[in-house]
Amino acid sequence: MNISRDYHILVLEDEPATQAMLASLMEGEGFRVTTAASSAQAQEAVAQTRFDLVLLDLNLPDDDGLYIARELRAKSDVGIIMLTSRKEDIDRVIGLEMGADDYVTKPFFPRELVARVKNLLRRLNQPRTTRRVDGAQGSELRRFNG
Ligand code: CA
Repeated sequence: MNISRDYHILVLEDEPATQAMLASLMEGEGFRVTTAASSAQAQEAVAQTRFDLVLLDLNLPDDDGLYIARELRAKSDVGIIMLTSRKEDIDRVIGLEMGADDYVTKPFFPRELVARVKNLLRRLNQPRTTRRVDGAQGSELRRFNG
């Protein structure tokens, strides 16, 4: 079952090569992808589109990625996966405290990132998507509406 097309991912990464790699990786999985290279571009995109998940590079030219994580979390329940480099250990912790859901350390294995993206989307959508619950799992479903 391919549910990827239901999801729209914002790739916020200022380094062109990494941005292109992330975008093609996500598109290869069937996701809709929008890219941004700065906080300003990301804010523009977020104002226009409802994203399901943001791949957030912590080290950006204008705003701090941590600030963006906090802003996104304050306004929405969008999934946030931070992309950090090894020297940003402290930032990673702060990022999680500020509401990021997960992180991947650069350089990362593409398949690991894809797995984390899918896991997070599944987790985020579990309460809403009762239609995807069937068979054995259905017996554990609790319905609060009627
Ligand atoms: Ca960067």
